[in-house]
Amino acid sequence: MPRPIQATIHPEALRHNLEVCRRAAPDARLWAVVKADAYGHGIERAFEGLRGADGFALLDLSEAQRLRGLGWRGPILLLEGAFEQRDLELCSRLGLWHTVHCEEQIDMLAIHKTNEPHRVFLKVNSGMNRLGFQPGQVRSAWTRLNALPQVDEISLMTHFSDADGPKGIAAQLALFRGATDDLPGERSLSNSAAILRHSGAGLVSDWVRAGIATYGSAPDHPAHDSRHWDLLPGMTLASKIIATRAISAGDSVGYGSTFVAESAMRIGVVACGYADGYPRVCPTGTPVLVDGVRCRTVGRVSMDMITVDLGPVPHATLGTEVTLWGRAHNGAVLPIDEVAAAAGTLGYELMCALAPRVPVAVGD
Ligand SMILES: *Cc1c(COP(=O)(O)O)cnc(C)c1O
Repeated sequence: MPRPIQATIHPEALRHNLEVCRRAAPDARLWAVVKADAYGHGIERAFEGLRGADGFALLDLSEAQRLRGLGWRGPILLLEGAFEQRDLELCSRLGLWHTVHCEEQIDMLAIHKTNEPHRVFLKVNSGMNRLGFQPGQVRSAWTRLNALPQVDEISLMTHFSDADGPKGIAAQLALFRGATDDLPGERSLSNSAAILRHSGAGLVSDWVRAGIATYGSAPDHPAHDSRHWDLLPGMTLASKIIATRAISAGDSVGYGSTFVAESAMRIGVVACGYADGYPRVCPTGTPVLVDGVRCRTVGRVSMDMITVDLGPVPHATLGTEVTLWGRAHNGAVLPIDEVAAAAGTLGYELMCALAPRVPVAVGD
């Protein structure tokens, strides 16, 4: 028998979460953001659940190629645009729309040979200070692009740094509007957090870019959890108990003896460790579902195993299901955000870090 760890992707949940984003921004067209191999879910596996989107946004040209290979003929947007000159050839060939965030990318376009002019998204740096033209440079960049025969429609985009937090989006929105108000073209502003938290506040954009929410993680955890936003887990990571053990008061568990039992207890050893993508930094007390019942980890996460307190599940035995995150057989849900919080990180990182050795299936 193979080692019992297994990840399962839930297309119905992805579909549902996409609808949640649509309802929050009903007037916008919606990009499903599928960078990083659909946030670790696998583009091919996520495609069925996300094909109701109006387009797909990603960064990697090979991922764009895979989407075309799946038969997707609709819009695909490269969120970072071309990395080098010859990337534009693939854009022409595959009909990719691409971001233009710096002068060098305009230079590349200016010497690109194509019969089909490209649709581009001119990126404005409104305060994130990663990619994009300074507000004061937007007009000249737009004018340059507009003069190129290689360019068809020019849309405008920006990315919020604080849509998930107390600072909010007002200052960035004002900067973006000030830089673009009299320029024509469609707008793309919102990520998941802006879609869910700020759509009501008059934040109108033609295209929204939904990433993390479609995979079932709350973009503003812990202020709100996935249940608050009605998001369902897009991925379950499950394994089984491979050994049980009775220990006595004073016994320690695992490397470094970081956990010492206060009284006699029963622990289960689970086939899941940091080599599977489960964070090594998860401390004693990280939530886990055993047979769908909430339990806690004890001791250090090791490469191939974790240990859990079987107190709440006295019937648990060899082969009992353990849900590391996602949905258990009885319908109980352990949001990936809770495990991420225990590790001091975000659901984003856990999804993307699912290790290659974990077999992945498509479920319901
Ligand atoms: C990743 C990304 C998104 C999606 O962000 P989420 O927080 O996952 O919704 C949107 N826009 C850009 C430019 C991105 O890089």
